[in-house]
Order: sequence, then C-alpha cells, then structure tokens
Amino acid sequence: MTNTNDAQVRVRFAPSPTGKLHVGGARTAIYNWAFARATGGTFILRIDDTDPTRSTEENTQVILRAMRWLGLDWDEGPEAGGDYGPYFQTERLGLYREAAERLVAEGRAYYCFCTPEQLAADREAAKERNDTFQGYQRTCRDIDASEAQARVDAGEPHTIRIKVPDDRGDVVVRDAVHGEVTFNARELDDFIIFRSDGTPTYNFATVVDDALMGITHVIRGDDHLSNTPRQVIVYEALGAPTPTFAHISMILGADGKKLSKRHGATSVEEYRDAGYLSDAFVNYLALLGWAPDGESTVIPRKRIAREFSLDHVSKNPAIMDPKKLDFINGEYLHAMDDGDFTREILLPELAAAGFDDGNTHDEAWYLLATEAFKPRCTLSRDVVNQARYLYTSDEELAYDEKAVKKWLAKQGARDALEAASEALTTLGEADWNPTAIEEVLDPLPERLGMGKGRVFQPIRVACVGGAASPGIGETLTLLGREHALTRIDQAKSLA
Ligand code: GLU
Repeated sequence: MTNTNDAQVRVRFAPSPTGKLHVGGARTAIYNWAFARATGGTFILRIDDTDPTRSTEENTQVILRAMRWLGLDWDEGPEAGGDYGPYFQTERLGLYREAAERLVAEGRAYYCFCTPEQLAADREAAKERNDTFQGYQRTCRDIDASEAQARVDAGEPHTIRIKVPDDRGDVVVRDAVHGEVTFNARELDDFIIFRSDGTPTYNFATVVDDALMGITHVIRGDDHLSNTPRQVIVYEALGAPTPTFAHISMILGADGKKLSKRHGATSVEEYRDAGYLSDAFVNYLALLGWAPDGESTVIPRKRIAREFSLDHVSKNPAIMDPKKLDFINGEYLHAMDDGDFTREILLPELAAAGFDDGNTHDEAWYLLATEAFKPRCTLSRDVVNQARYLYTSDEELAYDEKAVKKWLAKQGARDALEAASEALTTLGEADWNPTAIEEVLDPLPERLGMGKGRVFQPIRVACVGGAASPGIGETLTLLGREHALTRIDQAKSLA
C-alpha cells in the first residue's frame, strides 16, 4: 500500500492515561504523526480515559508533556481543539450511550439480563458437553423488544450486547502490516458493548469515536489485533466505513521478552531525563520496525515526516537496542552547531553538575570546551565527565590508577614531564592557546628520542588524571597555564 497523498487521511493516537508514555506508545504516536504528515492528513490526539480507576489527570499531563518533548504536534485534540471533539472519552459518554441505544432500537444490539452466576453456569454446562463454542449462549438475544425495554425501565441490571449477524461468516481483517487475518465470527460471541454499570467497553467506545472522528487509518500496537474483528462488527452495525488497520509489532528487550523495567528505562520521560535528544530518540524509535531504505541510520524528523509509509513497516517484533540509540544520539550531538551545543548542552549540563554557572569563563573558552568535548559525547551528560578535570582543584585531582601505572610510573615519564614544563614555561598567559602549546610540545618526542605516546600521555595524565582527553593543546588551554604547570610539576612525584 502506498501513501495516497490524500488530504482526507485522518489518524489518531489514543493513549489511556493509566501511566506514563512508554516507548511502545511513543513509537505508535510517531507512526501516526509521520503518516499524517507524509500524506498531508490530520493527526488527532484522543485521550482514552474511560477507565476511572486507573486514569488520572496527572498522567494525562505527563503524556501531553511527553508528546510535546517528542515534537509530535497534533492537529486536533486536547488544547488544540478541533471540529470532532471533545477529545477526552469521559466527555463523550453521551455519544456512546446514544449510539448503543440506536443499535438496540435498530435490532443490531440487545439488552442482556444474565447474571454473572448464570453466565458462569452456562459456561460450565458447555464445557461438560464438550461444545467447541463455550462463550455466551445468546440467552437474551431473542427476548421480545418491548419486554426487554420494560425490564430495563423497571431497573433490572443489564448489559448491552451486539448482535453478530448469523450470516456474518468469517471476519477478514485486511491489515496493512499483517496482511489478511481471518477470524471466525461465531467465536466473537455477542460481545458486550455496554457494561451493567453504564460504561461502554473499549471495543465499542473506540469504534464510536473512530467512526465519528472520521478516522481513515487505525495505526496501533498489535496487542489490539485480536480486538479488531469485534471492532469490525461494531463498524458494520453502526453502518460506518471500516478504516484501514495497521498493527505494529511490540517492542521487546534484547532477551526477546516484552520490554519492562528489567530492561532499563521504559518511559519517554526517563529517556528525556537521561539526556537523550528528542530528535535522536524519535529517529531511533521510528527506525524500530520501519526503514525507508536498508541503510540510513540517521533520518532526521523532516525526512521521516516526508517519507514514512506503512508498506515499509515490519511485522516482526522490534528489539530495543540501547547501543544503537546511543550511537544515533551521539550522531545528533556531533552534528549540532557549536554555539547551539554550548547553549543547549554544555552550559546546562555544567550548571546541573554544580560546576559552573556560565560566568566563570569567557565565551571563547566555552566554545573551545564545546569543540573539545562535543565529538567525544554520546549523551549530553557525558560533557560532565569530560570537563570534570577543569573543576577540580590541583591537589584534589583524581588520578586513574591504571593510567598512572601505564604512563607515569614508567621510565622516561619524568623526563617527558620535565621537558614539557620547560617548553610550556616559555609561553606567557597571552600565548596560551592550542596552536602555540602544540608548537612547543611537538618537537619533544624527537628531542627526547621517545615515541609520541610516551611523551604526551604522561602530560595528559598529569593534567587530566586519566589517559583520555581531547587534543593536548585544547586540553591544556582549557585548564589554563598556571594549573597546567602546577599539575605537571605535581605529577613528577608519581613518575
Ligand atoms: N486506549 C487504547 C490503548 O491505549 C487505544 C487502542 C487503540 O488505538 O485503539 O491501548
């Protein structure tokens, strides 16, 4: 199926506010959003808050926040409004009731007065008879309509059941991801659309909404595939056109089990708080089960919004791969403009770490820190570890034991440090910059008859505490002349 470029496309993301927005839900939202954008359609956000015990206003806010952080702007829904509202199911209860009563009046649904005990007894009996069908026995299906109405009016507890037409035959769901999936209509039971407490069931409320909202494509998790034949029956009873369904796979952990807390972060907010960039996160999730081609890993949001199509969605379960997410996040960080990185990543991270309020150095210094650290970051907060050596006093510098053993406690290390001190002292404060520093240090290996690593690594460990840092010129420039010389001096005792 190809995108239709049909301005009539209307899709919805319909989370239940019973918890945070999880990665699986986020991907469903991304696919709906991208499909709407790619087809010039409308993306609707609906809050399925009919479960009164588990839905909370706070969760709704968390979900809206997560959607905004993801950058998934919705065209209709909470706060955006729209012509098909309200967009909270709790505000649509009257519509469900109206639709159910219409179906009863038309003979497409009926009141059922069976008590839970009677239903259990029927099931037992069917079991004993070894019936292949052990569901609802359609006990109330043929109660005369006026009698049923009288019992309802008298206050007798009742549910409302849909009347699956006798001649319905198999229900074939044509799914854009799974292909044709066939369900036996009799197995569907005359299922309940309204409970005895007066609330609609999920399969009913969803279809009433999707029909009234003119939804053309239902894109959702494949845990709902088994609900779909029932929903098809409801569409048919309502006389509404059945939308195209696209059921997308679950997201699993590396062990092949359903993603859960055991695998680490599961909610969008946790990823946000861990320092992932929204663009990278959306890119990563979009690629979990969809690919425009076999190659690209970095696919900017704009391209997703342009190229997304359902025919490239895989029906195989997607495996959450944190390493790939980190890789993509790194790619986005590295591609950031230095000024943006300084403002949006470096300064906030340094402030959050309690290192720097942004007024300790001049602009050029912070830009140099960005140049030095940005290419070495996978996550935003990596800058904190990169920059730690700059925010420790010389005496309290923590040395990495292995690095000391490997580079300082070696023959020749002391010579390297001494030669470095001597060379660097020739530079005044005003000349303390990467180029000048490298110029005076570069001749040392040859002069000392030592390999580059044996000369520069001791200097690096002396100044940073560890063996990894950006280029020696940048590393020392950021540290400043006085601290660099003090640390090199101080490290001689370890050499
Ligand atoms: N509120 C339902 C859920 O979160 C919506 C399912 C659907 O998209 O129909 O699972």
